[in-house]
Amino acid sequence: MLSTNTSLSNAPGFIDKEEQYSAHNYHPLPVVLTKGQGVYLWDVDNKRYYDFLSAYSAVNQGHCHPEIIATFIEQAQRLTLTSRAFHNDALGEFAEFITKFFGYDKVLPMNTGVEAVETAIKLARKWAYEVKGIEKNKAKIIVCENNFHGRTVNVISFSTDPDATENFGPFNPGYEIIPFNDIPALQKVLQDKNVAGFLVEPIQGEAGVIVPDDGYLSLAAKMCKEANVLFMADEIQTGLARTGKMLACDHENVRPDILILGKALSGGTMPVSAVLCDDEIMMTIKPGEHGSTYGGNPLACKVAITALKVLSKENMASNATIQGAYLREQLNTIDHHLISIVRGKGLLNAIVIARADNKDTAWNLCLQLMENGLLAKPTHGDKIRFAPPLSITSAQMKECVDIIRHSLHSL
Ligand code: PLP
Repeated sequence: MLSTNTSLSNAPGFIDKEEQYSAHNYHPLPVVLTKGQGVYLWDVDNKRYYDFLSAYSAVNQGHCHPEIIATFIEQAQRLTLTSRAFHNDALGEFAEFITKFFGYDKVLPMNTGVEAVETAIKLARKWAYEVKGIEKNKAKIIVCENNFHGRTVNVISFSTDPDATENFGPFNPGYEIIPFNDIPALQKVLQDKNVAGFLVEPIQGEAGVIVPDDGYLSLAAKMCKEANVLFMADEIQTGLARTGKMLACDHENVRPDILILGKALSGGTMPVSAVLCDDEIMMTIKPGEHGSTYGGNPLACKVAITALKVLSKENMASNATIQGAYLREQLNTIDHHLISIVRGKGLLNAIVIARADNKDTAWNLCLQLMENGLLAKPTHGDKIRFAPPLSITSAQMKECVDIIRHSLHSL
């Protein structure tokens, strides 16, 4: 029996309250967490779990990383928010740090991932009208099937997921959807002179960790350059060392014209996102044309600097490469009829459950994993993402593989 269902568990009280008073816009596993440290989470019954989701890659540095938390506390006691009506003494430092870190002229700081995506779209359109010379209101952004870029009405306007769109219309025009990992399809749409940008996830995370063919990103970026179209990389989930490089685009030496970051930019402590590009694009936006009350707040700025430093200092990208390769190798040795596909890069991985006919199989496996001390969550029914914090050690990964093996066999 699952611990959360026993009468001795503290969990039901928390779950009942959430169900009664909070919107039902998520379907969480029945576990109630109260503490995190590194790769571990603890529930309200003091049971310990490995975190194999990392808050959808927001906690790459591990839960409550001591250096990030120390920066957070120090800055929180000094100054948290001024709005951009005034200057603060942290924004310039953050802007210099992140632009040099990724090699761009400028940064535009925001909060959530989807806000950064919206920012990137606005930048691409401004550039299209004011630099490229596209006729007013004709600019198009190319996106891919099965994309996930967030949940605003504008961003779901180009989603192909019925759950994201059903009864939320009418939707915004200005987008054209092509298949992911399809160079001829991109070639065709790039012939349209009204195309401003190509917005793409280097690996489609929410869709179930769909890794494109080697060479796709570099060829797509080259084709965009030739067509004077901005290559816009949404690295909110794939970036910040998750796939074994600081950016997933680095695997193919691609430098996006617009780089979109979020999630782990704060190591899981608060919403911090950012858009990076060069002056030709960034300077098209003038005072009053875009912004956010919290964007660029001093707390976020200081936290983000430390979050980036921790990724480099602790060699998290190379650890992601090593542990990810081991995880996939081990998963491939588990000869179990339920695993049909193992895929991923670095520590962004997924298994596809073979019994797609039974939509509960992946969910039931996640319950079994939870029972055995590992937290993972199905995406799109039959896929389970395995994406632990990047600080995971070889010994911990070995234990996790044992949990996965054992859970599959006891299902
Ligand atoms: N883009 C990608 C690739 C994502 O994975 C996500 C979130 O999962 C988002 C955008 C949206 O980020 P947020 O939930 O912070 O708005």
